[in-house]
Amino acid sequence: MIKSAEVVIIGGGISGCSIAYNLAKKGVKNVVILEKEYLASGSTGRCGAGVRQQWGREMNCRLAMESIKFFENAKEELEYDKDIEFKQEGYLIVATTEKEDNQFKENVKLQRKLGIPVEYLTPKEAKKIVPHLNTKGVISATFCSKDGHLNPFLMTDAYAKAAKRLGVKIYTYTEVIGIKVKNNKIYGVKTNKGFISTRIVINAAGGYSKQIGKMVGIDLPVYSERHQILVTEPVKPIQGPMVISFSLNIYCQQTPHGSFIMGRGDSNEPKDLRVTSSWNFMEQMTTTAINLLPPLGELRIIRQWAGLYNITPDKHPILGPVKEVDGFYLAIGFSGHGFMLAPMTGLLLAEQIIGEKTTIPIDKLDKDRFERGEMVLEPSVV
Ligand code: FAD
Repeated sequence: MIKSAEVVIIGGGISGCSIAYNLAKKGVKNVVILEKEYLASGSTGRCGAGVRQQWGREMNCRLAMESIKFFENAKEELEYDKDIEFKQEGYLIVATTEKEDNQFKENVKLQRKLGIPVEYLTPKEAKKIVPHLNTKGVISATFCSKDGHLNPFLMTDAYAKAAKRLGVKIYTYTEVIGIKVKNNKIYGVKTNKGFISTRIVINAAGGYSKQIGKMVGIDLPVYSERHQILVTEPVKPIQGPMVISFSLNIYCQQTPHGSFIMGRGDSNEPKDLRVTSSWNFMEQMTTTAINLLPPLGELRIIRQWAGLYNITPDKHPILGPVKEVDGFYLAIGFSGHGFMLAPMTGLLLAEQIIGEKTTIPIDKLDKDRFERGEMVLEPSVV
């Protein structure tokens, strides 16, 4: 293993690989990714892989909009030899409470102002888009045809291969076990395979980001929570868009291979690093799914699994340097939507590290916003 690096990125998920690619593309030499297992083994490879621009706050809308523009051309930009399976057939988000309907009206105003092509629909109009949707109890819906989903393994692989071609070194099965800090400056990282001296470390460790923070003596304002998901047998295509309801607590999409993938949030989920599956999840998930999308009751489940959401108090990520330790950067706290934001995460972190003006102002995404009382809560999350 190499002995020194310009930048060390901890975590080989979509964020770490995107940051590495963007740094190398901007000419930074000797960038290293350290991954304790294999690429995409964390939340990235366990996620629903939905990408949407329909957010309730400007920051998430803008990060997602720019990221989707990237996904649309990712294969060409990254010179990837496979299809990344970007199925851009929209997100249909249904409201089942008056409060939610009011929020959707606000969301649509904001999204349209930003140029997001979103429609506000009656239940009847929503049913035209997803004919098997049970509209009983549905008050309204919003739809953006440019949202969708793509394959998280292929997308991570595309970034990793492009990064490698630009000189990035990727060490899998290499765990960071300590970070050397002296006089509030980064001096290097200790791994299970040796020491790498560096002045810049990026914490892109997903669900483990708090543990990495502790290595430099910082208690990061994030926690991890198990989120579960399941997949059915494949069937012929019947559902174009991802269907979501925040109030019913469900997201559900049909992948290009024909399987349905669905997940839900649960505030009673363990807030630790557990990624076991539960029977309770499967019961609640299938009950909600069959009620909202009745034909799904005919399908067999083939597998369920779990991954970690790394969550901030305002459901926005934390991006950028910290004031306590010179050279320590964060790309954490994606609160369940870090896959879709990864193109912007990579670009913005690279811009910050080399001292460029960021494409979008992100000083409000620093970790100290909570202490300053400046957080803006994102309402539209599962
Ligand atoms: P990760 O993919 O978790 O990568 C971090 C990596 O760091 C891991 O591979 C881990 O092994 C490694 N690591 C940790 N500690 C160390 C160490 N000490 N040394 C070396 N390596 C280390 N997002 C969306 O945008 N759309 C969705 O539809 C969506 N659905 C989701 C559904 C579920 C069930 C879950 C769990 C998440 C979902 N997310 C979704 C969130 C998304 O998965 C994450 O926000 C995103 O993948 C974060 O990527 P990351 O690279 O930051 O973290």
